[in-house]
Amino acid sequence: MAKSSNKHIPLRICAICRVRGSKYNLIRIVKSPDNKPVIDISGKLPGRGVYICPDSECIELAKKSGGLAHALGLRNIDSDSEFWLELENYAKSFDDTNLADKRLRAVIGLSRKAGALLIGVDNIKNFTHKVLVIIANDCSEGVRNFAGNYKTLTPSISIQELSEAAGSRGVQIIALPLSSGFAKKILNLTQQLSSKNFEGSNAFE
Ligand SMILES: [Zn+2]
Repeated sequence: MAKSSNKHIPLRICAICRVRGSKYNLIRIVKSPDNKPVIDISGKLPGRGVYICPDSECIELAKKSGGLAHALGLRNIDSDSEFWLELENYAKSFDDTNLADKRLRAVIGLSRKAGALLIGVDNIKNFTHKVLVIIANDCSEGVRNFAGNYKTLTPSISIQELSEAAGSRGVQIIALPLSSGFAKKILNLTQQLSSKNFEGSNAFE
C-alpha cells in the first residue's frame, strides 16, 4: 500500500483578515445574479467565490469596512441586511459541522490505512459481508443507483474530497464493513454532519 504523503488540502484566503486556511474551514460567499451576497453552503454555487473566516471578528469587520462587498464586486451590503444575520448564524454552526465532516474524512483515511476500505463499485460488489456505503454528493447516476442496493450515506463531500480521503483518484463510492469499528465511528458522527442522506428508513438497525 502506498503511503499517503501527498495529501492535498485546498487552501483559500479570508477576504477580510487575509489569513490562509483550508477551504473547509472558511465560508464561501458568492454574488447572486441579482447582485446579492449569498452564502454558499453546498460549496457548489457557480460564480467567483469569496471566502471569510467563520468568526465574529472577521464578520464584524466585513460589515464595518465594506471589505466583503468590495471583494464580491458589490457597491455595498446594507448593515441591516438579513445576510449578516444569516452569516453570523451560519458561522456559529460552522465549527461543529465542519469538524464532523473533517472527522468523517479522517476516519475514511484511517480505514484505508487499516486496509478496511473498499473503493469503487467492483470491490463493493465482490465483498460478501454487509457494508456501509458512502457516496460523493456529485457521483454519477449509475453509482447512485448501485448504492441504492446498500445502506448508504451521502455526506456533503465531493468526489474530490472523497478521493483525497480515500487516497485514490476519481473516487465516487466507498464502503466499510458494517461490523468494523470504522463504520460504527462514522455512524456516530452522522448526527453532526452538515448534510446527510440515509437511504432506507431502518438503514442501520
Ligand atoms: Zn478572516
